[in-house]
Amino acid sequence: MECFYCKGNMKKGTTTYVVNRKGYHLVLDQVPAYVCGQCGEASFEADGVEMIQDIVRDLDMKSEKLVMHAY
Ligand SMILES: [Zn+2]
Repeated sequence: MECFYCKGNMKKGTTTYVVNRKGYHLVLDQVPAYVCGQCGEASFEADGVEMIQDIVRDLDMKSEKLVMHAY
């Protein structure tokens, strides 16, 4: 797999995925991804992205409830 940015060699590994939303910030360590050995750019796998979106959907719903409780 070739890096989209620098055409470097991408290797399977893990990286940190940061989600910045209104009301919360989520940092997921060790998300499976292809990481460029040259520039460090990460490309996430479809499976991983789907799981993250699932977590974020859940958190969105629950954090909204929590914020509403505060008022
Ligand atoms: Zn690269």
